[in-house]
Amino acid sequence: MALKAPKGCVDLIGKDARAWERFCAVAADVFTRYGYERIELPTFEQVDLFVRGCGETTDVATKEIFSVLSIGAAAKLREGGQLKADQRLALRPEGTASVVRAVAQHNLIPQGGAPVKLYYAGPMFRCERPQKGRLREFHQVGIECLGAIDATADAEMIIVCMRFFEALGLQTSSMELLINSMGCPECRPAYAQKVAAYMHEHEGELCEECVRRAETNPLRAFDCKNSGCFDVMEGAPRFEDELCEHCRERFAQVKAALRAAGLDYRCDSRLVRGFDYYTGTVFEVQVTEGLGSQSAIGGGGRYDKLMAEVGGNDVCGLGFAVGFERIVLALEAAGVQLAEEIHPQVYVACVDATVRDEAFQLVQDLRDAGIFTLYDQQGRSLKSQFKLADKSGATYCLILGPEELAAGQAKLRHMQTHDERPIALASAPQEILSLI
Ligand code: AMP
Repeated sequence: MALKAPKGCVDLIGKDARAWERFCAVAADVFTRYGYERIELPTFEQVDLFVRGCGETTDVATKEIFSVLSIGAAAKLREGGQLKADQRLALRPEGTASVVRAVAQHNLIPQGGAPVKLYYAGPMFRCERPQKGRLREFHQVGIECLGAIDATADAEMIIVCMRFFEALGLQTSSMELLINSMGCPECRPAYAQKVAAYMHEHEGELCEECVRRAETNPLRAFDCKNSGCFDVMEGAPRFEDELCEHCRERFAQVKAALRAAGLDYRCDSRLVRGFDYYTGTVFEVQVTEGLGSQSAIGGGGRYDKLMAEVGGNDVCGLGFAVGFERIVLALEAAGVQLAEEIHPQVYVACVDATVRDEAFQLVQDLRDAGIFTLYDQQGRSLKSQFKLADKSGATYCLILGPEELAAGQAKLRHMQTHDERPIALASAPQEILSLI
């Protein structure tokens, strides 16, 4: 049986691969302007990083992690043995925990040197039910800023995200920015208790999992995909009404900074995001058309306790991640192409087999001069080569025959106008360069 890519994984081919390249290039351009530097992270890490980082009771930690087992570790498990912590590995489901781990491990924040600003790009893995805009292996770019205390850092994070979307070609009018505050260790426990009490009152209307969540992690119920739970949680107490003085004031400062930057936003008290590490400001950007239920194209927020959680110093942080596949869908719905078609600049055609060696040399000379050149390697007839040149969308066809060769020339044909003229072989690369 022919083998296929695993469920929920896709091959990025042709224009999709070029779209990913462009997505990364736009990200690098925008993020660099805000002082972010690239970090390359391992594709797998210790499971504990994600369990401790994302939160033990989150969907990511309880259902979506892909474990990685070496052959040796798998054999040990089969024999009833126990794995050490550094043998229990997982494909990364997200980038934030890894960045924070790397910053702590390499002590990247020198005394008085905060903030450290890093961005990443690459595949993430979550064992979810695949559907449109939801894959098991998907691609994200994200930025993380460690050690920035000011409320303007929260606003700046959101501004970078919106500027990135705009640079990709999304219209501001086709996106909605949702914001919320997740409070702090001062006010969050009391709020969670209030939500739990509300959930107990409505226990009969909640799914089994949310009944459990009321005991373990009530705020996760805001994320439940079940429509009954969604309706119940609509009436739950709002975090904004329960924030402590400090968090309330901070949230007001963030909103003021967003308004000053001219960004429209909507406060959504249900917005809790998928990870437990968030404290204070959280945000999500949704597109209004083209993505159905998977309308979130990116989001993030502040995580002031995560660094300490993964064993580093008590340094605050904030960041966001944007999903590539959903951006492609959103741009398609808006009629925007992320990757342009690419066409050769020159197609070299041989009149017969006697000139193939010279044609081969000419092709190398053109390419060495920086010209995107194609030619036939199948011994096709001249007619077939012309057809291929046409199909490739080449701007010029350079035709080499025994007669032209004897005169040290080739024929340069413009594929659109069909204008033809002789061109000296020795100066062909320079002359063509001046034309394109
Ligand atoms: P998160 O890491 O959950 O905050 O998600 C950030 C962004 O990554 C989302 O807004 C989506 O654009 C994208 N994303 C998350 N999960 C998936 C998935 N399973 N498939 C495709 N894109 C995803």
